[in-house]
Amino acid sequence: MKKEIIVIDGPAASGKSTVAKLVAQKLNYKYIDSGAMYRCVALYKLENNLSIGQLLNNIEKIKIDFDNNNHVFLNDKDVSDLIRSTEVSKLVSEIAKISKIRAYLVSLQQSYGKEKGIVMDGRDIGSVVFPEAKVKIYQVASVETRAKRRFNELLDNGKSADYLEICNNIKKRDYDDMNREVSPLIKVDDAYELDTSNMSIDEVVNKIIEIFNEKVK
Ligand code: C5P
Repeated sequence: MKKEIIVIDGPAASGKSTVAKLVAQKLNYKYIDSGAMYRCVALYKLENNLSIGQLLNNIEKIKIDFDNNNHVFLNDKDVSDLIRSTEVSKLVSEIAKISKIRAYLVSLQQSYGKEKGIVMDGRDIGSVVFPEAKVKIYQVASVETRAKRRFNELLDNGKSADYLEICNNIKKRDYDDMNREVSPLIKVDDAYELDTSNMSIDEVVNKIIEIFNEKVK
């Protein structure tokens, strides 16, 4: 069967990466986490103590790769855990607003897509990176559902968690991502909106595979 590009966009903590990984596994596709790429740029700035101007001058020195186990490498170093730190999470939305950074990452994302057979999740994948993709999902869930999922995930990983703080953080990121000037988070017309508030992970994955089978015949 011909390989395709599957796009999963949506707001923070809507479960996109969990679902995207499973969809990729089922179809034997590669999964690319575009948010991890923005996080890599934020980490690069922090690790090298750069101003925004210096970061922009050095942007082409940033090399980002993914392996088949969903690990992400920044200039050949495995940074899969480091990019999830609080410092990076706080900085990443600022980084994602800068058009020169977006242009650089979009060109990398498009180069990964040349071979097709990929599932990519993010905010602007259906609107900017692969507007021609046949399978586009816009995955949403209520703020409460997303906050509860993130809260349980942190507790399951033995970390402390404050439900209200998580809720407020999600609301702020929704606002920032939807209202920025460059490539804001939007649902494009040909995306299928999937509200996962009352769905299990398996149900979401199966629904996306069903949509894929319908669209790619
Ligand atoms: O997906 P994740 O929450 O890890 O993404 C981190 C941040 O990167 C998001 O809050 C968003 O600001 C930015 N991002 C983006 N465009 C993408 C993916 C992520 O602006 N395609």
